[in-house]
Amino acid sequence: MNVRTILAGNWKMHKTAAETAAFFDAFLPRVAPIPAEIEIVVAPAFTSLQLAGEFLSGTRVRLGAQTMHWELQGAFTGEVSAPMLRALGVSHVILGHSERRAYCDETDRTVNLKVRTALAQGLTPIVAVGETLDERRAGATDERVLSQTRAAFEGVPEADLSKVAIAYEPIWAIGTGQSCEPDEANRVMATIRHAIDGLGGTPILYGGSMTASNVASYVRCSDINGGLVGGASLDPEGFAALIERAVPVSS
Ligand code: PEP
Repeated sequence: MNVRTILAGNWKMHKTAAETAAFFDAFLPRVAPIPAEIEIVVAPAFTSLQLAGEFLSGTRVRLGAQTMHWELQGAFTGEVSAPMLRALGVSHVILGHSERRAYCDETDRTVNLKVRTALAQGLTPIVAVGETLDERRAGATDERVLSQTRAAFEGVPEADLSKVAIAYEPIWAIGTGQSCEPDEANRVMATIRHAIDGLGGTPILYGGSMTASNVASYVRCSDINGGLVGGASLDPEGFAALIERAVPVSS
């Protein structure tokens, strides 16, 4: 099955609005010639979403958010809802990132609630799963990612699974410079694809110290359909170079 390629930048808690503007001034001209079949997403902090939406309006780059609440409105101080994101032009939302699972009480249950709301509200969830170093050493990688994947999509109709993306992010590879070997990442990602029926056409992205130097070795693998990129998405030239190197030679 031909699965679309997504390159998504997760800026985490980086960049003020002024820094966001400077990024897009440099980035947008660089990525304009990239073939349209590559889906490019940038997920800034909430405080930069409005400005980023203005920059990205009418371009081929899509706007992402880094999380959201599962309720549509209400007494949830500090939270942001799917309709609020949609109103700013957001099309994708990262859910279940390991940093939110570790530091912000994100659980399999809340990820599932958020996935269902995102889909109902027309947002593309990018659901992050991955194992800790201890789990990998204990041989529990597959068990971990399978249970996270099954929990995230519990109750989601099979027909909706083509509307989501999954990011396999080994936690020990995030921000460490210690990326997972492409063949091993591909093996785990094939396991994820077979976790439940309906993931055959779902983009599965690798995340964990992806750079312009190693991206090509990932995207040539059979079950790797792009990347979720943290540190290397912060520099406009570097992120544009990474995306260029992810384009298949035949494009
Ligand atoms: C991430 O934050 O999702 C990530 C993969 O970070 P990095 O690319 O910096 O490892």
